[in-house]
Amino acid sequence: MTEQKTRVRIAPSPSGNLHIGTARTALFNYLFAKKTKGDYVLRIEDTDLDRSSEAYKQNIFDSLKALGLSWDEGPDIGGQYGPYKQSERFDIYPKYAQMLIDKGYAYECFCSNEDLDKEHEIANEKKIPYKYSRKCLNLTPEQKAELKAKGIKPSIRFKVDYKELVFCDLVKGELKFDTSLIGDFAIMKSNGTPTYNFAVVVDDMLMKISHVIRGEDHISNTPKQILIYEALGAQVPKFAHLGMILAPDRSKLSKRHGATAVSDFIKEGYLTEALLNFVALLGWSPSDGVEIKNVDEIAADFRIKELSSSNSVFEYDKLNWMNGQYIKKMDIKKLTDLALPFLKEYDTSLYSREKLEKIIEVTREPITVLKDLVFDTQYFFEKPDYSEVQELLNSELSKKVLEKFKGDIKDYDFNNTQELHDKLADFRAYFKENYGYKPKETMWAIRAAITGRTRGADMVEILLILGKQEVIERLEGIS
Ligand code: GLU
Repeated sequence: MTEQKTRVRIAPSPSGNLHIGTARTALFNYLFAKKTKGDYVLRIEDTDLDRSSEAYKQNIFDSLKALGLSWDEGPDIGGQYGPYKQSERFDIYPKYAQMLIDKGYAYECFCSNEDLDKEHEIANEKKIPYKYSRKCLNLTPEQKAELKAKGIKPSIRFKVDYKELVFCDLVKGELKFDTSLIGDFAIMKSNGTPTYNFAVVVDDMLMKISHVIRGEDHISNTPKQILIYEALGAQVPKFAHLGMILAPDRSKLSKRHGATAVSDFIKEGYLTEALLNFVALLGWSPSDGVEIKNVDEIAADFRIKELSSSNSVFEYDKLNWMNGQYIKKMDIKKLTDLALPFLKEYDTSLYSREKLEKIIEVTREPITVLKDLVFDTQYFFEKPDYSEVQELLNSELSKKVLEKFKGDIKDYDFNNTQELHDKLADFRAYFKENYGYKPKETMWAIRAAITGRTRGADMVEILLILGKQEVIERLEGIS
Protein backbone atom coordinates (compact mmCIF):
# COMPACT_ATOMS: atom_id res chain seq x y z
CA MET A 1 0.00 0.00 0.00
CA THR A 2 1.40 3.39 -0.89
CA GLU A 3 1.76 5.86 1.98
CA GLN A 4 -0.94 8.49 1.81
CA LYS A 5 0.41 11.98 1.15
CA THR A 6 0.39 14.10 4.28
CA ARG A 7 -2.42 16.60 4.13
CA VAL A 8 -3.11 18.86 7.08
CA ARG A 9 -5.40 21.79 7.58
CA ILE A 10 -6.00 24.82 9.69
CA ALA A 11 -9.72 25.36 10.05
CA PRO A 12 -10.48 28.62 11.84
CA SER A 13 -13.97 29.95 12.38
CA PRO A 14 -14.25 33.60 11.34
CA SER A 15 -15.95 34.62 14.57
CA GLY A 16 -13.03 36.69 15.79
CA ASN A 17 -9.62 37.95 14.73
CA LEU A 18 -6.95 35.26 14.38
CA HIS A 19 -6.10 34.18 17.93
CA ILE A 20 -2.48 33.59 18.84
CA GLY A 21 -3.44 30.02 19.83
CA THR A 22 -4.84 29.38 16.37
CA ALA A 23 -1.64 30.83 14.93
CA ARG A 24 0.29 28.22 16.92
CA THR A 25 -1.96 25.44 15.60
CA ALA A 26 -1.47 26.82 12.09
CA LEU A 27 2.29 26.90 12.59
CA PHE A 28 2.47 23.28 13.78
CA ASN A 29 0.34 22.15 10.84
CA TYR A 30 2.50 24.20 8.48
CA LEU A 31 5.72 22.79 9.96
CA PHE A 32 4.43 19.24 9.75
CA ALA A 33 3.45 19.71 6.10
CA LYS A 34 6.85 21.26 5.36
CA LYS A 35 8.70 18.48 7.13
CA THR A 36 6.75 15.70 5.38
CA LYS A 37 6.51 17.48 2.01
CA GLY A 38 2.77 17.42 2.36
CA ASP A 39 -0.04 19.87 1.72
CA TYR A 40 -1.29 22.52 4.09
CA VAL A 41 -4.89 23.57 3.60
CA LEU A 42 -6.82 26.56 4.91
CA ARG A 43 -10.51 25.93 5.45
CA ILE A 44 -12.85 28.59 6.75
CA GLU A 45 -15.44 27.09 9.10
CA ASP A 46 -18.27 29.58 8.84
CA THR A 47 -21.29 27.33 9.31
CA ASP A 48 -22.42 29.58 12.14
CA LEU A 49 -23.41 32.42 9.85
CA ASP A 50 -24.55 34.68 12.67
CA ARG A 51 -21.17 34.69 14.36
CA SER A 52 -19.05 34.74 11.21
CA SER A 53 -18.03 37.89 9.41
CA GLU A 54 -16.18 38.87 6.28
CA ALA A 55 -13.95 41.22 8.30
CA TYR A 56 -12.81 38.38 10.59
CA LYS A 57 -12.18 36.17 7.58
CA GLN A 58 -10.01 38.86 6.07
CA ASN A 59 -8.19 39.30 9.37
CA ILE A 60 -7.47 35.55 9.44
CA PHE A 61 -6.08 35.67 5.88
CA ASP A 62 -3.98 38.75 6.57
CA SER A 63 -2.63 37.52 9.89
CA LEU A 64 -1.65 34.10 8.57
CA LYS A 65 0.03 35.73 5.58
CA ALA A 66 1.82 38.25 7.77
CA LEU A 67 3.20 35.33 9.76
CA GLY A 68 4.35 33.69 6.53
CA LEU A 69 2.04 30.71 7.02
CA SER A 70 0.61 30.71 3.51
CA TRP A 71 -1.44 27.75 2.43
CA ASP A 72 -1.30 25.42 -0.56
CA GLU A 73 -5.08 25.29 -0.96
CA GLY A 74 -7.67 27.65 0.43
CA PRO A 75 -10.72 29.81 -0.21
CA ASP A 76 -8.79 32.53 -2.01
CA ILE A 77 -6.58 30.33 -4.18
CA GLY A 78 -8.79 27.27 -4.62
CA GLY A 79 -7.46 23.77 -5.03
CA GLN A 80 -8.49 20.29 -6.02
CA TYR A 81 -10.84 19.76 -3.07
CA GLY A 82 -12.67 23.09 -2.90
CA PRO A 83 -14.65 25.04 -2.07
CA TYR A 84 -12.72 25.72 1.12
CA LYS A 85 -15.37 27.77 2.86
CA GLN A 86 -17.99 25.71 4.61
CA SER A 87 -20.80 28.15 3.76
CA GLU A 88 -20.12 27.33 0.11
CA ARG A 89 -20.42 23.62 0.83
CA PHE A 90 -23.92 23.60 2.29
CA ASP A 91 -25.19 21.40 -0.56
CA ILE A 92 -22.66 18.67 0.31
CA TYR A 93 -23.55 17.90 3.93
CA PRO A 94 -27.24 16.84 3.54
CA LYS A 95 -26.18 14.11 1.09
CA TYR A 96 -23.91 12.52 3.66
CA ALA A 97 -26.47 12.96 6.42
CA GLN A 98 -29.01 11.15 4.26
CA MET A 99 -26.46 8.41 3.62
CA LEU A 100 -26.12 7.91 7.38
CA ILE A 101 -29.90 7.82 7.80
CA ASP A 102 -30.16 5.23 5.02
CA LYS A 103 -27.51 3.07 6.65
CA GLY A 104 -29.23 3.32 10.05
CA TYR A 105 -26.54 5.46 11.67
CA ALA A 106 -28.66 8.58 12.00
CA TYR A 107 -32.28 9.56 12.41
CA GLU A 108 -34.54 12.56 12.24
CA CYS A 109 -35.39 14.31 15.47
CA PHE A 110 -38.42 16.55 15.80
CA CYS A 111 -37.89 17.63 19.39
CA SER A 112 -38.25 21.36 19.91
CA ASN A 113 -35.79 23.42 21.92
CA GLU A 114 -38.34 23.49 24.73
CA ASP A 115 -38.58 19.67 24.73
CA LEU A 116 -34.81 19.44 24.94
CA ASP A 117 -34.58 22.11 27.63
CA LYS A 118 -36.98 20.04 29.71
CA GLU A 119 -34.82 16.94 29.28
CA HIS A 120 -31.81 18.99 30.38
CA GLU A 121 -33.67 20.23 33.45
CA ILE A 122 -34.64 16.72 34.50
CA ALA A 123 -31.05 15.53 34.14
CA ASN A 124 -29.88 18.51 36.18
CA GLU A 125 -32.40 17.77 38.91
CA LYS A 126 -31.29 14.14 39.03
CA LYS A 127 -27.67 15.33 38.93
CA ILE A 128 -26.87 12.97 36.06
CA PRO A 129 -25.02 13.91 32.87
CA TYR A 130 -27.43 14.81 30.12
CA LYS A 131 -28.02 12.46 27.22
CA TYR A 132 -30.72 12.76 24.59
CA SER A 133 -33.71 10.53 25.46
CA ARG A 134 -33.94 9.00 21.99
CA LYS A 135 -37.56 10.02 21.90
CA CYS A 136 -37.48 10.29 18.10
CA LEU A 137 -35.37 7.19 17.41
CA ASN A 138 -38.24 4.91 16.63
CA LEU A 139 -40.78 7.21 15.03
CA THR A 140 -42.73 5.47 12.27
CA PRO A 141 -42.73 6.89 8.73
CA GLU A 142 -46.36 7.96 9.32
CA GLN A 143 -45.50 9.84 12.51
CA LYS A 144 -42.64 11.61 10.77
CA ALA A 145 -44.83 12.52 7.81
CA GLU A 146 -47.43 13.92 10.19
CA LEU A 147 -44.89 16.08 12.01
CA LYS A 148 -43.47 17.33 8.74
CA ALA A 149 -46.96 18.13 7.49
CA LYS A 150 -47.29 20.39 10.54
CA GLY A 151 -44.28 22.29 9.26
CA ILE A 152 -41.85 20.94 11.86
CA LYS A 153 -38.39 20.68 10.38
CA PRO A 154 -36.30 17.89 11.88
CA SER A 155 -32.70 17.98 12.92
CA ILE A 156 -30.66 14.86 12.25
CA ARG A 157 -29.04 12.98 15.08
CA PHE A 158 -26.24 10.48 15.00
CA LYS A 159 -27.14 7.24 16.75
CA VAL A 160 -24.31 6.43 19.12
CA ASP A 161 -23.65 2.74 19.65
CA TYR A 162 -22.23 1.89 23.01
CA LYS A 163 -18.67 0.65 22.93
CA GLU A 164 -15.22 1.46 24.15
CA LEU A 165 -13.57 3.67 21.59
CA VAL A 166 -9.78 3.68 21.57
CA PHE A 167 -7.53 5.83 19.46
CA CYS A 168 -3.88 6.66 19.53
CA ASP A 169 -3.24 10.36 19.67
CA LEU A 170 0.17 11.31 18.29
CA VAL A 171 0.75 13.70 21.18
CA LYS A 172 -1.35 12.32 24.02
CA GLY A 173 -0.84 8.62 23.39
CA GLU A 174 -3.64 6.07 23.70
CA LEU A 175 -6.99 7.57 24.63
CA LYS A 176 -10.09 5.61 25.59
CA PHE A 177 -13.67 6.79 25.61
CA ASP A 178 -16.84 5.11 26.77
CA THR A 179 -19.31 6.07 24.05
CA SER A 180 -22.26 5.25 26.28
CA LEU A 181 -21.59 8.60 27.91
CA ILE A 182 -22.18 10.40 24.62
CA GLY A 183 -25.81 10.94 23.80
CA ASP A 184 -27.12 10.81 20.24
CA PHE A 185 -25.83 14.12 18.96
CA ALA A 186 -27.06 16.39 16.18
CA ILE A 187 -25.22 16.33 12.90
CA MET A 188 -27.62 18.58 10.98
CA LYS A 189 -29.61 21.40 12.50
CA SER A 190 -33.28 21.83 11.70
CA ASN A 191 -32.36 24.84 9.52
CA GLY A 192 -30.47 22.52 7.19
CA THR A 193 -26.95 23.54 8.23
CA PRO A 194 -24.45 21.01 9.54
CA THR A 195 -23.12 21.00 13.09
CA TYR A 196 -19.40 21.52 13.64
CA ASN A 197 -18.68 17.83 14.29
CA PHE A 198 -20.37 16.71 11.11
CA ALA A 199 -19.07 19.40 8.76
CA VAL A 200 -15.52 18.89 9.99
CA VAL A 201 -15.62 15.14 9.33
CA VAL A 202 -17.26 15.41 5.91
CA ASP A 203 -14.74 18.08 4.89
CA ASP A 204 -11.70 16.33 6.30
CA MET A 205 -12.81 13.16 4.54
CA LEU A 206 -13.45 14.83 1.19
CA MET A 207 -10.31 16.95 1.46
CA LYS A 208 -8.30 13.79 2.19
CA ILE A 209 -6.87 15.19 5.41
CA SER A 210 -4.38 12.68 6.81
CA HIS A 211 -3.57 14.34 10.15
CA VAL A 212 -5.69 16.54 12.36
CA ILE A 213 -3.44 18.69 14.53
CA ARG A 214 -5.40 20.96 16.87
CA GLY A 215 -5.86 22.13 20.44
CA GLU A 216 -6.88 19.68 23.13
CA ASP A 217 -10.09 21.64 23.65
CA HIS A 218 -11.29 19.50 20.74
CA ILE A 219 -10.50 16.15 22.36
CA SER A 220 -14.06 15.71 23.56
CA ASN A 221 -15.23 16.08 19.96
CA THR A 222 -12.86 13.45 18.65
CA PRO A 223 -14.85 10.32 19.65
CA LYS A 224 -17.94 11.75 17.98
CA GLN A 225 -15.92 12.49 14.88
CA ILE A 226 -14.37 9.03 14.81
CA LEU A 227 -17.85 7.48 15.06
CA ILE A 228 -18.95 9.54 12.05
CA TYR A 229 -15.86 8.54 10.01
CA GLU A 230 -16.53 4.90 10.79
CA ALA A 231 -20.20 5.19 9.88
CA LEU A 232 -19.29 6.87 6.60
CA GLY A 233 -16.81 4.07 5.88
CA ALA A 234 -14.03 6.65 5.64
CA GLN A 235 -10.46 6.38 6.77
CA VAL A 236 -9.99 7.99 10.17
CA PRO A 237 -7.17 10.57 10.11
CA LYS A 238 -4.43 10.54 12.71
CA PHE A 239 -5.05 12.97 15.53
CA ALA A 240 -2.57 15.12 17.43
CA HIS A 241 -4.00 17.23 20.24
CA LEU A 242 -1.83 20.00 21.58
CA GLY A 243 -1.77 21.17 25.18
CA MET A 244 -3.51 24.48 25.73
CA ILE A 245 -1.94 27.91 26.03
CA LEU A 246 -2.53 29.41 29.45
CA ALA A 247 -2.08 32.94 30.73
CA PRO A 248 0.72 33.65 33.24
CA ASP A 249 -1.86 33.25 36.04
CA ARG A 250 -2.65 29.76 34.65
CA SER A 251 -6.16 30.75 33.59
CA LYS A 252 -7.43 30.71 30.02
CA LEU A 253 -5.51 33.29 27.98
CA SER A 254 -7.85 36.20 27.36
CA LYS A 255 -7.80 39.87 26.46
CA ARG A 256 -7.54 40.91 30.09
CA HIS A 257 -4.00 39.46 30.11
CA GLY A 258 -2.90 41.48 27.09
CA ALA A 259 -3.15 41.11 23.33
CA THR A 260 -4.44 37.74 22.09
CA ALA A 261 -5.10 38.43 18.41
CA VAL A 262 -2.14 38.24 16.06
CA SER A 263 -3.16 41.57 14.49
CA ASP A 264 -3.12 43.25 17.92
CA PHE A 265 0.39 41.99 18.59
CA ILE A 266 1.45 43.36 15.21
CA LYS A 267 -0.18 46.71 16.03
CA GLU A 268 1.83 46.84 19.26
CA GLY A 269 4.99 46.38 17.28
CA TYR A 270 5.81 42.72 17.71
CA LEU A 271 7.72 41.35 14.75
CA THR A 272 6.04 38.41 13.06
CA GLU A 273 9.32 36.46 13.09
CA ALA A 274 9.52 36.84 16.86
CA LEU A 275 5.87 35.97 17.34
CA LEU A 276 6.26 32.77 15.32
CA ASN A 277 9.43 31.79 17.12
CA PHE A 278 7.75 32.45 20.46
CA VAL A 279 4.57 30.47 19.76
CA ALA A 280 6.61 27.57 18.39
CA LEU A 281 8.14 27.25 21.85
CA LEU A 282 4.67 26.81 23.35
CA GLY A 283 4.67 23.07 22.82
CA TRP A 284 7.86 22.43 20.86
CA SER A 285 11.42 22.40 22.24
CA PRO A 286 14.57 22.76 20.17
CA SER A 287 16.79 19.69 20.42
CA ASP A 288 19.92 21.86 20.84
CA GLY A 289 18.37 24.14 23.46
CA VAL A 290 18.82 27.22 21.28
CA GLU A 291 15.48 28.96 21.41
CA ILE A 292 15.92 31.72 18.86
CA LYS A 293 15.31 30.07 15.51
CA ASN A 294 13.66 30.98 12.26
CA VAL A 295 10.86 28.94 10.71
CA ASP A 296 13.17 26.90 8.48
CA GLU A 297 15.38 25.98 11.41
CA ILE A 298 12.33 25.04 13.46
CA ALA A 299 10.93 22.96 10.59
CA ALA A 300 14.20 21.04 10.34
CA ASP A 301 14.03 20.19 14.05
CA PHE A 302 10.27 19.55 14.21
CA ARG A 303 8.92 16.15 15.22
CA ILE A 304 5.21 15.90 15.83
CA LYS A 305 5.54 13.15 18.42
CA GLU A 306 7.71 15.40 20.54
CA LEU A 307 5.11 18.12 20.87
CA SER A 308 4.18 18.71 24.44
CA SER A 309 0.94 17.25 25.67
CA SER A 310 0.88 19.51 28.70
CA ASN A 311 -0.26 23.10 28.77
CA SER A 312 2.14 25.94 28.03
CA VAL A 313 2.19 29.30 29.71
CA PHE A 314 2.17 32.41 27.57
CA GLU A 315 4.84 34.53 29.22
CA TYR A 316 4.45 38.05 27.88
CA ASP A 317 7.81 38.97 29.45
CA LYS A 318 9.56 36.30 27.46
CA LEU A 319 7.86 37.41 24.27
CA ASN A 320 9.01 40.97 24.98
CA TRP A 321 12.55 39.78 25.50
CA MET A 322 12.48 37.72 22.33
CA ASN A 323 10.99 40.55 20.31
CA GLY A 324 13.77 42.82 21.57
CA GLN A 325 16.33 40.28 20.37
CA TYR A 326 14.76 40.23 16.90
CA ILE A 327 14.62 44.02 16.80
CA LYS A 328 18.32 44.25 17.67
CA LYS A 329 19.29 41.81 14.93
CA MET A 330 16.96 42.78 12.12
CA ASP A 331 18.30 44.27 8.92
CA ILE A 332 18.05 48.03 9.46
CA LYS A 333 16.29 48.74 6.17
CA LYS A 334 13.60 46.19 6.94
CA LEU A 335 13.29 47.40 10.51
CA THR A 336 12.91 51.00 9.33
CA ASP A 337 10.13 49.97 6.93
CA LEU A 338 8.33 48.32 9.84
CA ALA A 339 9.04 51.16 12.24
CA LEU A 340 7.91 54.12 10.13
CA PRO A 341 4.16 53.35 10.37
CA PHE A 342 4.55 53.66 14.15
CA LEU A 343 5.96 57.17 13.76
CA LYS A 344 3.03 58.61 11.82
CA GLU A 345 2.44 61.30 14.42
CA TYR A 346 5.82 62.82 13.55
CA ASP A 347 6.88 64.66 10.46
CA THR A 348 9.34 62.05 9.22
CA SER A 349 9.92 64.09 6.05
CA LEU A 350 12.27 66.24 8.15
CA TYR A 351 14.92 63.61 7.49
CA SER A 352 16.35 61.73 4.55
CA ARG A 353 15.72 57.97 4.43
CA GLU A 354 19.36 57.49 5.38
CA LYS A 355 18.94 59.58 8.52
CA LEU A 356 15.68 57.85 9.41
CA GLU A 357 17.50 54.54 9.28
CA LYS A 358 20.14 56.07 11.53
CA ILE A 359 17.48 57.21 14.02
CA ILE A 360 16.07 53.68 14.20
CA GLU A 361 19.56 52.20 14.38
CA VAL A 362 20.60 54.33 17.36
CA THR A 363 17.34 53.92 19.29
CA ARG A 364 16.61 50.23 18.75
CA GLU A 365 18.87 48.82 21.47
CA PRO A 366 16.61 49.00 24.54
CA ILE A 367 13.19 48.69 22.93
CA THR A 368 10.99 45.61 23.19
CA VAL A 369 8.21 46.58 20.77
CA LEU A 370 8.21 49.00 17.85
CA LYS A 371 5.62 51.13 19.60
CA ASP A 372 8.34 52.08 22.11
CA LEU A 373 9.95 54.06 19.31
CA VAL A 374 7.25 56.70 19.55
CA PHE A 375 8.63 57.83 22.89
CA ASP A 376 12.24 56.96 22.25
CA THR A 377 12.55 58.97 19.03
CA GLN A 378 10.39 61.93 20.04
CA TYR A 379 13.27 64.38 20.45
CA PHE A 380 14.45 63.79 16.91
CA PHE A 381 11.19 65.02 15.47
CA GLU A 382 9.92 67.58 17.94
CA LYS A 383 11.37 70.12 20.35
CA PRO A 384 12.21 68.35 23.58
CA ASP A 385 9.77 68.20 26.42
CA TYR A 386 11.77 69.60 29.35
CA SER A 387 9.25 68.90 32.11
CA GLU A 388 11.14 65.90 33.48
CA VAL A 389 14.54 67.58 33.50
CA GLN A 390 13.70 71.11 34.61
CA GLU A 391 15.29 70.67 38.01
CA LEU A 392 18.41 69.20 36.52
CA LEU A 393 18.70 72.07 34.04
CA ASN A 394 18.27 74.63 36.82
CA SER A 395 21.19 73.23 38.80
CA GLU A 396 24.40 75.21 39.15
CA LEU A 397 26.30 72.38 37.51
CA SER A 398 24.10 72.35 34.41
CA LYS A 399 24.22 76.10 34.05
CA LYS A 400 28.01 76.09 34.07
CA VAL A 401 28.27 73.14 31.70
CA LEU A 402 25.76 74.50 29.23
CA GLU A 403 27.16 78.00 29.19
CA LYS A 404 30.50 76.65 28.05
CA PHE A 405 28.99 74.04 25.73
CA LYS A 406 26.95 76.68 23.88
CA GLY A 407 30.15 78.49 23.04
CA ASP A 408 32.35 75.49 22.32
CA ILE A 409 29.95 73.72 20.03
CA LYS A 410 30.13 76.46 17.44
CA ASP A 411 33.67 75.29 16.68
CA TYR A 412 32.85 71.57 16.50
CA ASP A 413 33.07 69.97 13.11
CA PHE A 414 29.81 68.06 12.63
CA ASN A 415 31.22 66.25 9.61
CA ASN A 416 33.84 64.51 11.66
CA THR A 417 32.44 61.87 13.99
CA GLN A 418 35.75 61.05 15.59
CA GLU A 419 36.41 64.70 16.31
CA LEU A 420 33.00 65.05 17.96
CA HIS A 421 33.77 62.09 20.20
CA ASP A 422 37.15 63.55 21.12
CA LYS A 423 35.76 67.03 21.74
CA LEU A 424 33.08 65.68 24.05
CA ALA A 425 35.71 63.66 25.92
CA ASP A 426 37.88 66.77 26.31
CA PHE A 427 34.84 68.72 27.45
CA ARG A 428 34.06 66.20 30.17
CA ALA A 429 37.70 66.14 31.23
CA TYR A 430 37.73 69.93 31.51
CA PHE A 431 34.85 69.93 33.99
CA LYS A 432 36.30 67.01 35.91
CA GLU A 433 39.64 68.79 36.30
CA ASN A 434 38.34 72.26 37.01
CA TYR A 435 35.16 71.61 38.92
CA GLY A 436 35.30 67.94 39.94
CA TYR A 437 32.12 67.14 38.02
CA LYS A 438 31.73 63.48 37.18
CA PRO A 439 31.82 62.89 33.42
CA LYS A 440 28.31 61.48 33.49
CA GLU A 441 27.01 64.57 35.32
CA THR A 442 28.42 66.77 32.60
CA MET A 443 26.81 64.59 29.95
CA TRP A 444 23.45 64.57 31.75
CA ALA A 445 23.31 68.32 31.51
CA ILE A 446 24.08 68.26 27.78
CA ARG A 447 21.70 65.42 27.08
CA ALA A 448 18.91 67.06 29.06
CA ALA A 449 19.33 70.33 27.18
CA ILE A 450 19.29 68.68 23.77
CA THR A 451 16.76 65.87 24.28
CA GLY A 452 14.82 66.64 27.48
CA ARG A 453 15.94 63.24 28.74
CA THR A 454 18.68 61.82 30.92
CA ARG A 455 18.88 58.64 28.91
CA GLY A 456 18.73 57.75 25.25
CA ALA A 457 20.79 57.10 22.18
CA ASP A 458 24.51 57.77 21.91
CA MET A 459 25.07 61.52 22.30
CA VAL A 460 27.39 61.91 19.33
CA GLU A 461 24.87 60.12 17.11
CA ILE A 462 22.15 62.45 18.37
CA LEU A 463 24.27 65.51 17.56
CA LEU A 464 25.00 64.18 14.09
CA ILE A 465 21.37 63.39 13.34
CA LEU A 466 20.01 66.69 14.64
CA GLY A 467 22.71 68.74 12.94
CA LYS A 468 24.64 71.72 14.24
CA GLN A 469 22.00 74.35 13.67
CA GLU A 470 19.25 72.48 15.51
CA VAL A 471 21.58 71.64 18.40
CA ILE A 472 22.58 75.29 18.77
CA GLU A 473 18.93 76.38 18.64
CA ARG A 474 18.02 73.96 21.41
CA LEU A 475 20.91 75.11 23.58
CA GLU A 476 20.00 78.76 23.00
CA GLY A 477 16.44 77.97 23.94
CA ILE A 478 17.49 76.92 27.41
CA SER A 479 17.29 79.96 29.66
N1 GLU B 1 -13.31 25.56 13.50
C1 GLU B 1 -12.70 24.85 14.58
C2 GLU B 1 -12.03 25.85 15.51
O1 GLU B 1 -11.82 26.99 15.11
C3 GLU B 1 -11.67 23.88 14.03
C4 GLU B 1 -11.50 22.72 14.88
C5 GLU B 1 -10.71 21.62 14.21
O2 GLU B 1 -9.54 21.87 13.90
O3 GLU B 1 -11.26 20.55 14.01
O4 GLU B 1 -11.77 25.55 16.64
